[in-house]
Amino acid sequence: MFNLKDKYIIVTGSSQGIGKTIVEELASLGANVILLSRNETKLISLVNKLKNKYSQNFKHYKLDVSIEDDVNEIFKKILTEFDKIDTLINNAGITSDNIIVRMNSTQWNDVINTNLNGSFYCCKAISKKMIKQNFGNIINISSIIGLTGNKGQCNYAASKAGIIGLTKSLAKELAPKNITVNNINPGYIKTEMTDSLNSNNKDIFLDKIPLKRFGSTKDIANIAAFLCSDMSNYITGQNINIDGGITI
Ligand code: NDP
Repeated sequence: MFNLKDKYIIVTGSSQGIGKTIVEELASLGANVILLSRNETKLISLVNKLKNKYSQNFKHYKLDVSIEDDVNEIFKKILTEFDKIDTLINNAGITSDNIIVRMNSTQWNDVINTNLNGSFYCCKAISKKMIKQNFGNIINISSIIGLTGNKGQCNYAASKAGIIGLTKSLAKELAPKNITVNNINPGYIKTEMTDSLNSNNKDIFLDKIPLKRFGSTKDIANIAAFLCSDMSNYITGQNINIDGGITI
């Protein structure tokens, strides 16, 4: 397995689901992890659990990534406290589904502001530091829906397609500074986000997945850990689909 000892990694949206499992995986591999999301109670409980189990540094900050001023303030605090940051993982995301004729601007804006703008704010807030360091690594969590689109999810699909464009552009822009930027596209992963789908829709999805099973948060965390490791140093600007083959 990879050794992430002495790595300092920021994970947004780490209070539950994929983000929480990513944090647990990185911690088990020796990384120091900085956890960000809105639900501070959940973050404190996770940080306490990690501190009881591992000796490295864990720190949490309450943050809504959709508010640019708050992102800048929290990243300033992080960069004052930590001398270097190896990786930023932009995982925070929401859905607010509706068919277009019923989708209101609040639904559209909430999803774009959190998923796409939030990723942009965090990338921007960390880039200056990574450029100065002359190394760094950004991992964005998009979705296969950003590639394929999905009925009832035009806001979510647009936000995730935007993240794919953001990733590719930043990979080109930051490569001369030894900074890699990649994108993970999860397929259907079992989390609180997908638990809300009704069983009929779940069966429709399952039928389309060649591997005939939903993914686990660990399936995503494994690849995130690989991308945080030095073994992935020559990978940049890539979209990695972890989807049981649904996009084949
Ligand atoms: P969950 O709803 O289980 O978790 C989402 C996380 O994002 C939570 O920790 C939440 O924490 C955080 N979050 C949401 N909004 C904000 C915000 N404004 N600021 C900071 N943190 C926020 O979702 P998943 O774990 O399933 O999804 C994680 C990522 O993976 C998302 O980007 C999602 O789009 C993507 N994805 C998931 C798939 C799946 O099948 N589950 C498929 C494809 C992509 P809090 O409420 O504490 O802020």
